[in-house]
Amino acid sequence: MEDIKNKIEELRNTLRYHSDRYYNDDAPEIEDYEYDMMMRQLKELEEKYPQYDTPDSPTKKVGGKADNSFAPVRHNVRMESLQDAFSREEIYDFEKRVTDVVASPQYVVEPKIDGLSVSLEYRDGVFVKGSTRGDGDVGEDVSGNLRVIHNVPLKLNKPIPFIEVRGEVYMPKKSFDKVVDRQLINGEKPFKNPRNAAAGSLRQKDSKVTAGRGLDIFIFNIQQIEGAELNSHKDSLDFLSELGFNTVPFYKKVDTIDDALDEIDRIGEARGSLEFDIDGAVIKVDDFEQRRNLGSTAKYPKWAVAFKYPPEEKQTKLIDIEIAVGRTGVLTPTAVLESVHLAGTTVSRATLHNQDFINEKGIGIGDIVTVRKAGDIIPEVLCVNEHNSSSVFKFPEVCPSCGEKVIREEGEAAIRCINPECPAQLLRNLIHFCSRDAMDIEGLGPAIIETFVNVGMIKKTYDIYNLNPLEIANLEGFKETSANNIISSVESSKNNDLSKLLFALGIRHIGAKAAKLLSDKFKSIDSIMNASVEDILQIDGYGEIMAKSVVDYFATDSAKELIQKLKECGVNMLSTNVVEDSRFEGMTFVLTGTLPTLKRSEASEIIESFGGKTSSSVSKKTTFVLAGEEAGSKLDKANKLGIEVIDEAKFLEMTK
Ligand code: NAD
Repeated sequence: MEDIKNKIEELRNTLRYHSDRYYNDDAPEIEDYEYDMMMRQLKELEEKYPQYDTPDSPTKKVGGKADNSFAPVRHNVRMESLQDAFSREEIYDFEKRVTDVVASPQYVVEPKIDGLSVSLEYRDGVFVKGSTRGDGDVGEDVSGNLRVIHNVPLKLNKPIPFIEVRGEVYMPKKSFDKVVDRQLINGEKPFKNPRNAAAGSLRQKDSKVTAGRGLDIFIFNIQQIEGAELNSHKDSLDFLSELGFNTVPFYKKVDTIDDALDEIDRIGEARGSLEFDIDGAVIKVDDFEQRRNLGSTAKYPKWAVAFKYPPEEKQTKLIDIEIAVGRTGVLTPTAVLESVHLAGTTVSRATLHNQDFINEKGIGIGDIVTVRKAGDIIPEVLCVNEHNSSSVFKFPEVCPSCGEKVIREEGEAAIRCINPECPAQLLRNLIHFCSRDAMDIEGLGPAIIETFVNVGMIKKTYDIYNLNPLEIANLEGFKETSANNIISSVESSKNNDLSKLLFALGIRHIGAKAAKLLSDKFKSIDSIMNASVEDILQIDGYGEIMAKSVVDYFATDSAKELIQKLKECGVNMLSTNVVEDSRFEGMTFVLTGTLPTLKRSEASEIIESFGGKTSSSVSKKTTFVLAGEEAGSKLDKANKLGIEVIDEAKFLEMTK
């Protein structure tokens, strides 16, 4: 019995953890199906052992919690969840529970949109407030962000005194692809799926960001209404369309549960070709009087059920393995399969994750494998059924895009190409190269770089320094002046300090500060290229991984070629940071809090120009802590260690 109790507690903790990742961070770590199966197991155990059932169990809770960055909204009508079913038998069980209470129910079947639930309120036909579901009772006021969604009407076709509707905000597949592309170009962590992308985009502080994400909405329910009398779900959906709402698509009223099941099959077949993700279909009792008689549990209405399409599995032949190089240089393997029909789509490719995954499953070309597809999830190879290949597939040793040697760093599953000129990574590297903390080439923003790469004007990083103003001016959208501005900012970047160039190269693990330390220590690119790991390790602040990364980088032929070409173009390769007044030599400053006039970066520059160093943490080696307003734990630590704390006025005094 103790075992059962522990199992229940363990399941609750695991579910709480994943629910937090999913609802509050918009970053799930497991597939929905896995989550649903765990929830199912917990529900069964609680039913079997009611002595261990508790009211705070995840089986009784709706969604996540409201984030306090938005004003809380208490819902007048609770925003409930839905009970789920994974088989036809469970749908018949649902029908039985319904017909035990009401006679001859009719049903409406709708696709279950995979987004996030919101409520919209209108007074006299005008949009007044919109909120998220939150925990079902209290949500977040996201009115500003809802206003920028094209299909949220700000004014209804009829000035009805009051109406609150419920709908699902979602991200169409096309918008999702664009958003993820942008995130990858900017080196950000991409959203995992359209649902999380929709949730993350709706809960933005800045509505402009939300507006740029291409969100959409489907409305599927009336929560409250004044000024109209409606008796059935079908009538209310029709009425919502008349008011100007984008109602949930292809809903259908049916007379029997078997007809509802046929509808579920039809929606299931169509799901692969829809513009948006669905994670099931919902069957709802149509008549409102019958709904009232059926009532609700603590979590969901008893008059509706969500059928979740089970992940489908099929066997097929693995014909080939393709290796693609992502924009971050990571090599990703994709299985090319003999086509099979799965979950409403034709599947001919599946992810193989990385070399460890391939080894673990023993996958080789020619094998018969089982492929699984769960809803919107990319198909995956589950296992090998028949080993036909003579060996397990091995990743190539050189990058398939540029031919340079690839590396796998200790403790990492990914194998990557670190060649900065690798065409697969060119765009991302160029954007970084021109960015503010790097070469700071003002005229060359991401969109312009993309244009120049697309028309073939930039094929390698150093092509930036050979841009021709006439060619630029001839491109659509450019004029002579804009072309000349670009050329002049490219020209002035040639005089940058070596530290900026080092950072611009995008060497792994070498940020702006590490680049500065490297440049200050070695003074010229040639000395850095000749330095060994041991030489670099002498820099205070450098560890083994960073030092090795620098040496590995300059050992590649492409890095050598890049530096040579940049030299030929006249790019400065020397440290211009010659310290003439070294009054802070040997001193380490830690900056904390907000200074009254100086930005932190300005204070750091002053310290370094006098030969001093800055560090991010207070230790016995710290000479001064320069503290501004709202200084936190660093100040406490300084006081504990007896380190002198100075304010901005005293600091400026010291620099006179
Ligand atoms: P749910 O998503 O299964 O069903 C309720 C929701 O469906 C409602 O909030 C509603 O907004 C939405 N919906 C979409 N179309 C609808 C329609 N036509 N009619 C009525 N409702 C419609 O339940 P839930 O409580 O929101 O969340 C549970 C889901 O979230 C599960 O699928 C679960 O797998 C997933 N989840 C996954 C993780 C993870 O780690 N992967 C963690 C937590 C939850």
